[in-house]
Amino acid sequence: MKLYEYECKEIVRRYGVLIPRGRVALNPEEAARVASELGAVVLKAQVLVGGRGLAGGVKIAEKPEEAYTIANKLFSSNIRGERVERLLVEEKVSISRELYLSLTVDRAARRPVYLVSEMGGIEIEELAKKYPEKIHKIYVDPGIGYTDYIAREVIQTLRLPWTFLQDVINISRAMYKIMSDYDAELVEFNPLALTSDGKLIALDAKIIIDDNSLYRHSELQSFHGRELSEYEKKARELEFSYVELDGDIGVICNGAGLTMATMDSILYYGGKPANFLDIGGGAPRERIREAVKLMLTHPRSRVLLINVFGGITRCDEVALGVVEVIKEIGALKPIIVRMLGTNEEEGRRILKEHNIKVYSEMDDAVKAVVEVAKR
Ligand code: GDP
Ligand code: MN
Repeated sequence: MKLYEYECKEIVRRYGVLIPRGRVALNPEEAARVASELGAVVLKAQVLVGGRGLAGGVKIAEKPEEAYTIANKLFSSNIRGERVERLLVEEKVSISRELYLSLTVDRAARRPVYLVSEMGGIEIEELAKKYPEKIHKIYVDPGIGYTDYIAREVIQTLRLPWTFLQDVINISRAMYKIMSDYDAELVEFNPLALTSDGKLIALDAKIIIDDNSLYRHSELQSFHGRELSEYEKKARELEFSYVELDGDIGVICNGAGLTMATMDSILYYGGKPANFLDIGGGAPRERIREAVKLMLTHPRSRVLLINVFGGITRCDEVALGVVEVIKEIGALKPIIVRMLGTNEEEGRRILKEHNIKVYSEMDDAVKAVVEVAKR
């Protein structure tokens, strides 16, 4: 679960890390008021999607009037599909160097790891792709936790003067403390800025909390689910196991195993799933209707693959559910079905009557669906 930048900064500040002065504004008037107190400011859209700066969500205003105009624009825009409801208005800091410092968990190594780079301000994913050699890793023994050698290594990697040692100790230690206190998967400062007057300040802060730990963070529980899109919220309301991905093939399956196998198969044949929805075992026709309706209205997927293994689930019920939805809202996108098992023949007959392609081999259905998505 991601936290908003202003929430992260509030946490970070309490742990003794320097952040720019600033306040959250809910409208342009408020933004202008904060700006008149602070002077030149940076207006930062508070959204949970990544790449905000590149998408125009971070703007500098030298004067309060300018802050009003920019804030007005930001409030009426959306950043990568996410509406802007809050702005963080911060004093503009004069930067001499943009650095990168984060703490995350390396699952393969089963250890926390600090990622350190002189090339801050660039998204770490991009940095990892283009200049992997510019990212230095410092692994932490979780049985020992933070110790000061880490800060020394950070200083050397970042080529900071040793006079910064105490600051870097405080920052690195705070990061480790935040990670353990909040069960964070990531604590990131990008950029950690070296200011022209020689201070280390977290210009941007990002904290991701491990969802599985929410039961012991009552203060964070209400935040759960707010990063979901409208579409994901709908799926959740309908109580489907639904996962959003970034491709163009919609997938309905029954059972987690079959769903994962279908994902693998789609990738194997060169396709990209847009999402998947698991209707579970023995879903009644009404549930199938809800699932198909939802998946046909997905904004990005171009084709829908329904892959069911009829055990308790009856293939004829699935077929009827599909046909009823098409009658009600139309075939909004091509549908390809693979079904096998209980009442398979009846299911096929119903679908064929409505010109829906049915396969009994998963490979064939997947190949067909990848083909349609590519057209
Ligand atoms: P992100 O793009 O969502 O990660 O937003 P950031 O908060 O990291 O800001 C993006 C970039 O805006 C930074 O890398 C800086 O180059 C610039 N920036 C942000 N705040 C300031 C500031 O106070 N002063 C100056 N000069 N630049 C800033
Ligand atoms: Mn950033």
